[in-house]
Amino acid sequence: MRFATRALRVGQDPDPKFRAVIPPLYQSATFAWEDLDHIPEIDYTRCSNPNRKILEQVIASLENGKHCVLYASGMASIGAAFALLKQGDHLLMANDIYGGTFRLAEQWLPRQGISTSYFCAHDPGSLADAVTPETKMVIFETPTNPNLRVSDIAALTKEAKKLGLIVVFDNTFASPALQNPLDLGVDIVVHSTTKYISGHSDVIGGAAVTNDDKLFEGLFEWNKAFGAVPSPFDCWLSLRGVKTLGCRMAAHCRNAQAVAEFLAGHPKVARVHYPGLIEHPDHQVAKRQMVGGFGGMLALELHSVEAARKVAEGTKVFLLAESLGGVESLIAYPPLMSHATMTEAQRLDRNIPPTMLRLSVGVEDAQDLIEDLEAALARV
Ligand SMILES: *Cc1c(COP(=O)(O)O)cnc(C)c1O
Repeated sequence: MRFATRALRVGQDPDPKFRAVIPPLYQSATFAWEDLDHIPEIDYTRCSNPNRKILEQVIASLENGKHCVLYASGMASIGAAFALLKQGDHLLMANDIYGGTFRLAEQWLPRQGISTSYFCAHDPGSLADAVTPETKMVIFETPTNPNLRVSDIAALTKEAKKLGLIVVFDNTFASPALQNPLDLGVDIVVHSTTKYISGHSDVIGGAAVTNDDKLFEGLFEWNKAFGAVPSPFDCWLSLRGVKTLGCRMAAHCRNAQAVAEFLAGHPKVARVHYPGLIEHPDHQVAKRQMVGGFGGMLALELHSVEAARKVAEGTKVFLLAESLGGVESLIAYPPLMSHATMTEAQRLDRNIPPTMLRLSVGVEDAQDLIEDLEAALARV
């Protein structure tokens, strides 16, 4: 079966008792044993649950992976990957990394005796210079947040594997509808399912997908031990969301391209960052790598901080809010939102100027989105 069909059919045969087309909500903490000789397949919801199991099968399938473990949030899935490290190990992170991952690595890993440092994901050769004898893992993401740079997943993974590292890739921004990093050699794909996979801004969740049996065991056992598990209802909601991932992503890509082209021609906009624009510095690698489209995220720079703040506060269809990947369009100001943990210097170091805004382009009518931005820009 192909992508769109798998999203609807994997693990989702009618339930055996009443032939319900939609998997019932198993809002049960525990499951009864027949007798002491037969351990039930699912016995306690911290370890597994039917709703969670179905969603794990679907997400594994959409990422072309063998195993999926679901978590209570995207951060818990990244925390589970980091928990594969032990005291004395070193973690390499791309400079452009999600703010929450940055916070976890900066504030918590050192307490566990795990050191971290950064490298440039745009230069796969820089990995060899950045490793130490203790380096065990590398984590990166593309397109990056918020400036939408695209790095070459296959090239970077090849370098990392030569150095014997576990490669963790955060595929939240693209979603499995656009790229499948496991096919490019990545060991563990993590997701904030809060974003495109669930797609409706109504649930927080995370996933880790891998083909490696041993890594899977570590990811699963961590969750069983720490209990950062999603509720059955959250899984039920996310399953409802993921069914339409393919057609939602197509609409996100179409609308983002239209919005990017409009902004690129606007005199009050200093710069637009969208991999679908020919003038984007990584357009060629994005074209090759993001086989399903260029995504729904874009960033723009205004000519002044004041102008950026005015546009952020001035749109009506785009809501001023954190997060991304939902059907509704959102506008965000990174210094006070996603990248508030960083100092101004750390942000500038990562090419996040205070004149930058980030858009998560939804699936509304593109013309309404353009008119909304046009009106906000006119008031600057
Ligand atoms: C939102 C996000 C996360 C964290 O996910 P939560 O579900 O909020 O915990 C991690 N990585 C990226 C790229 C994200 O956008």
